[in-house]
Amino acid sequence: MENNFDVIVIGGGPGGYVCAIRAAQLGLKTACIESRDTLGGTCLNVGCIPSKSLLNLSDSFHKAQKNFNSQGIEFANLKLNLDKMMSNKNKSVQVLTKGIEFLFKKNNVTYIKGKGVLFSDHDVVVYQAEKKTSFKAKNIVIATGSVPTSLPGIEIDEKNIISSTGALELKEVPKKFVVIGGGYIGLEMGSVWSRLGSEVTVLEYLDHITPGMDNEISSEFLKILTKQGIKFKLNSQVTSASNKDNQVEINFTNIQSSKQENILADKVLVAVGRKPYTEGLNLTKIGIKKDAKGKIEVNHKLQTSINNVYAIGDVIKGPMLAHKAEEEGIAVAEIIAGQAGHVNYDIIPGVIYTSPEVAAVGKTEEQLKQENISYKVGKFPFLANSRAKVNNETDGFVKILADSKTDRVLGVHMIGPHTGDMIAEMALAMEFSASAEDIARTCHAHPTHTEAVKEAALAVGKRAIHF
Ligand SMILES: Cc1cc2nc3c(=O)[nH]c(=O)nc-3n(C[C@H](O)[C@H](O)[C@H](O)COP(=O)(O)OP(=O)(O)OC[C@H]3O[C@@H](n4cnc5c(N)ncnc54)[C@H](O)[C@@H]3O)c2cc1C
Repeated sequence: MENNFDVIVIGGGPGGYVCAIRAAQLGLKTACIESRDTLGGTCLNVGCIPSKSLLNLSDSFHKAQKNFNSQGIEFANLKLNLDKMMSNKNKSVQVLTKGIEFLFKKNNVTYIKGKGVLFSDHDVVVYQAEKKTSFKAKNIVIATGSVPTSLPGIEIDEKNIISSTGALELKEVPKKFVVIGGGYIGLEMGSVWSRLGSEVTVLEYLDHITPGMDNEISSEFLKILTKQGIKFKLNSQVTSASNKDNQVEINFTNIQSSKQENILADKVLVAVGRKPYTEGLNLTKIGIKKDAKGKIEVNHKLQTSINNVYAIGDVIKGPMLAHKAEEEGIAVAEIIAGQAGHVNYDIIPGVIYTSPEVAAVGKTEEQLKQENISYKVGKFPFLANSRAKVNNETDGFVKILADSKTDRVLGVHMIGPHTGDMIAEMALAMEFSASAEDIARTCHAHPTHTEAVKEAALAVGKRAIHF
């Protein structure tokens, strides 16, 4: 009986641990299996949390170095202590991962350490070192996440050719840091090392950065990052990266001109995406289907091809984001408990934690055009926002897209200070089917960056006050 559970969750990342807590809250006897030494998955151990720690600290360092003097905060001998910065990051990770163990105890979730393998639709075996333990479950949730991918012919050695995990652990600031891939992970890590003193070059295959983002925001973002000193080589197809005399030589072809180029770097970050991780789970043997990209196929209730086996998070379709995984974790727990759990995939915000931040929710202008939806645009620049002005953070703007007939907000895209927090208001507004008029008529505190949202909403009706 001890090894029998209502729900066994395989994987203790944001999808898995949240699912386990919610299932236990609903009275289900729940266990969560995690093969890593600590809970929290990619997000807490080698993703969202350590990257945000380094982004925050490197931003403070950069501001102290570049801006403080001219703003009347003068001091001598500012210097970087990378060891301390890394220890600070590691401490934050440790506190948060331990925090999940505490939450498991508090909610009565059994934490099982080891690698979980499926032996049937009700049987899971956990391997830890030499030990093998069998468990039975009425329901199984697969939340095994994702791992970094590379390009053909490029082997990540985590020495000079590194993944995001390696980029979070560097012992010294590389002189030349090359990033392959202009997506959010590459740009966040590129920003960190650029602020700490590296010469950063981003190689991107497409003619723009941040694929999938509203074009206008993406162009503005590229301009701002270039102004900050990051170099971009767009239309660049990387063909090889190989170690050469303690440096890495990267060869790439300009896909427009066919010109072959190469660049030398001290460290190369391969940030070309992540792939679902299902290794050793035994999925094929028990009949769980995957799609062509290796993602586990699920229906609208997040059930796999076996009814009582569910899958959530990075291992299934949709944006690879921690909060999307968490929403799915909660939905599955509620579905198993007989409730009507669901995820609104139309309203999943996305944030890039650079400086300035970039945030979006809902449809881009390009998607609306493609879907033949007629829309109105309201835009407001941070240059005309008093709080941004006094803080000397005037780069960027807020853009609201609303249905031209009903005025319902269809998408919001922002680049500017604190937009990562501000996007929550827009997600909430959209959940309540707000119109631009609703946002425009909502009183926003002065002086705050959020007034830019109100003004953009006013601008949808061509009546912005401060611009
Ligand atoms: C550098 C970086 C920065 C990021 N920043 C952000 C961000 O700011 N915001 C955001 O929303 N997302 C961010 N992400 C993405 C985010 O980390 C993932 O979307 C999220 O972690 C996915 O959660 P998950 O639970 O599906 O999987 P994961 O977090 O990958 O967790 C899966 C867990 O399952 C375990 N596991 C795998 N197989 C087994 C097995 N057989 N038995 C037992 N355990 C197993 C793994 O060890 C892992 O701990 C970032 C990612 C990276 C790499």
